[in-house]
Amino acid sequence: MENLEKAIAEIKEALPGMTLLEQEPLSAHCSFRIGGPARALAVPESVSSLAKICSILKDNELMPFVLGNGTNLLFPDEGLQELFLLSTEKLQNLFLLPDGAIYAEAGVSLSRLSSFAQQNGLQGLEFASGIPGSVGGGCFINAGAYGGEMKDVVESVVCLYAPDQGLYELSAEQCAFSYRKSMFNTHGGYVILSAVFRLQPGDKDEIAAKMREMNEKRRAKQPLELPSAGSAFKRPEGNFAGALIEQAGLKGFTVGGAQVSEKHAGFVVNVGGASSHDVYELMKQVRNTVYEKSGVQLEPEVIILPPDYKLEDHSPKAHKNHITVNAGFEQEKKEE
Ligand SMILES: Cc1cc2nc3c(=O)[nH]c(=O)nc-3n(C[C@H](O)[C@H](O)[C@H](O)COP(=O)(O)OP(=O)(O)OC[C@H]3O[C@@H](n4cnc5c(N)ncnc54)[C@H](O)[C@@H]3O)c2cc1C
Repeated sequence: MENLEKAIAEIKEALPGMTLLEQEPLSAHCSFRIGGPARALAVPESVSSLAKICSILKDNELMPFVLGNGTNLLFPDEGLQELFLLSTEKLQNLFLLPDGAIYAEAGVSLSRLSSFAQQNGLQGLEFASGIPGSVGGGCFINAGAYGGEMKDVVESVVCLYAPDQGLYELSAEQCAFSYRKSMFNTHGGYVILSAVFRLQPGDKDEIAAKMREMNEKRRAKQPLELPSAGSAFKRPEGNFAGALIEQAGLKGFTVGGAQVSEKHAGFVVNVGGASSHDVYELMKQVRNTVYEKSGVQLEPEVIILPPDYKLEDHSPKAHKNHITVNAGFEQEKKEE
């Protein structure tokens, strides 16, 4: 706590023009619309001011937590005594490189990125046009849809490794992308600054038509009219979480303001005033019932941050905590 207050004071002094919101409601920065106040939320003006903040945090033995569009996160109702770094306001550089690849900073939305590719007659990013995340969040989780994933289009990622403050350019292979995984969410400690995308030339109209078709499918099948964080659970091998939940009779199952979507059982939606506790309880009951009925253990896709979540410890073990924040959920599963 002391370290955090000291770091915030130093950041204010080093970057006096930067927006730094104190006691900012996290509900305003996530698609679930749930979450109490963050101690502070900084809006770095550029990649270099983001790097400066990371260096101050390291000096104070703190880890950075970068926020993208907040579309894969469940924040606690109690809020968090942490400093969040918002990438999506300013880190917006997006351009074509001389060799035809696309350069995008972490805060660029995946929909803007895929539209940019389409406008430049480049195909391969159509799958991403309806994913509401950012380049940083998309690389972190290897976002994917309709048979495409970041893994297929990322050529390299530039990131800052918080423990040594080094800048690294990682090839797609080094990013170790697999289903909803990357070395960023399996190792922790990395701040994604930008990525380069290698696409194939294609017909602009055909690319646009493909994007339209995927987005229409999304609108028809997904509860986009209600706050959610997308698929609540990962796809279990050889199965679909939504189908298992529906077969367990849980479509429409409600806890407080949280509900298994009537439209798509794979989504948990906030039907009005849901607390993080409602969502957490609902997900636990869904997981238990599905396990009883089908023997399949569902694993959360949504990153659940518990109220006692801490970034203070600067050890490699703590980095892991950053990204295995569903640990409480998993532990309870074993103890039950
Ligand atoms: C309606 C809806 C539909 C969705 N559909 C899909 C889908 O089809 N496919 C899919 O894969 N996902 C889907 N999602 C989930 C979500 O959009 C993706 O997981 C997305 O990649 C998250 O990006 P974000 O910017 O919102 O990340 P956030 O939710 O802000 O962050 C998620 C994690 O990424 C980390 N992170 C973010 N930026 C950085 C960075 N620059 N450096 C280091 N770490 C970072 C955060 O610290 C956090 O741990 C959907 C969500 C919603 C609400």
